[in-house]
Amino acid sequence: MQLKQIGEFNFICHIQSDTIYNPDTVIQGIGDDCAIYNTSEHVNQLISTDTMVEGIHFSFHYMMPYDVGYRLMSANLSDIAAMGGTPKQVVLSVAAPDYIDTDILDEIYRGIKDQCKKYGVNILGGDTVRIEGPMVWTVTIIGEVPQGCAVLRSGAQISDVVGVTNYLGYAATGLSALMYSLDGYTMTKIGHQRPEPQVFLGQRLRDLGVHSMNDISDGLASELNEIASASSVSIVIEEKAIPLHAETYALAEHLQTNPVDYALYGGEDFQLVFTAPKSLVPQLQDMDGISLIGEVLSGPTVVQMVTPDKTVKTIEAKGYNHFHES
Ligand code: ADP
Ligand code: MG
Repeated sequence: MQLKQIGEFNFICHIQSDTIYNPDTVIQGIGDDCAIYNTSEHVNQLISTDTMVEGIHFSFHYMMPYDVGYRLMSANLSDIAAMGGTPKQVVLSVAAPDYIDTDILDEIYRGIKDQCKKYGVNILGGDTVRIEGPMVWTVTIIGEVPQGCAVLRSGAQISDVVGVTNYLGYAATGLSALMYSLDGYTMTKIGHQRPEPQVFLGQRLRDLGVHSMNDISDGLASELNEIASASSVSIVIEEKAIPLHAETYALAEHLQTNPVDYALYGGEDFQLVFTAPKSLVPQLQDMDGISLIGEVLSGPTVVQMVTPDKTVKTIEAKGYNHFHES
């Protein structure tokens, strides 16, 4: 069935069920002019918005509609994770052509709802409009963090260690494997299709007292440069300390590419990069999924990488965007 056949009103009625996963904060969900929700005391509110355009930020070539919804939410949840926050509410707007099959919209919503349910985030409203052309999805997410405890990009301090979560270049590995129609690479293909935001690690890192944090949506090179320039420091990382998955090494070998490039320039891992005082090193080393990859030094603002043969390379924010989907 097409959107124009069921109409926007019926579509909204249809998606309205199963949208509240943390009812304590909700006074009014979908169905009135505005939603109403309660906030807690002694917290700061976080708010962020992200738009994904079909053909630019996602396509159905390598992802099912379910994955598109899943990844849309992961991208938004990741922004809250990067502040060390707890996601709470979302509103989302969809612009779709009226000939769109509502099964596709349903599947995108199923992906969105599964992620919302997992992180206890309520869908409090949105907007549905018709458009001639590709679909546009906009999600606005609201989260909270204990007062004064949000972790900013600008907090890096000289002599901090630099850490990252899990594997980097993981989603880019999966995307390349899909683009080259390679068999195998099953873990990283899922990593591209259904990346997981690091909400819980973000909160733990905040509680530990890390100084600065950023989520990795555009590759490590770009995110480290953002921290370095926001904090007016320089950062040096060790190439061999960057955590890469076995599938990344295998793909790089197969395609004769440099494995570390997937981590530096590959998009959409939604892992976290942070800097922390040296006193936290023992605790960070005890945590699962944390790798320490470098150090914060005094300015000028630059990011450098020491290669295994001890050459020092400057890492620009974006060397190339070969790995970005279009
Ligand atoms: P209004 O004319 O007041 O904007 P709408 O008809 O656009 O009302 O929306 C009715 C209700 O449905 C509102 O609560 C709105 O937030 C919600 N809503 C509309 N579109 C969506 C959507 N795509 N996803 C979730 N909620 C939606
Ligand atoms: Mg409206």
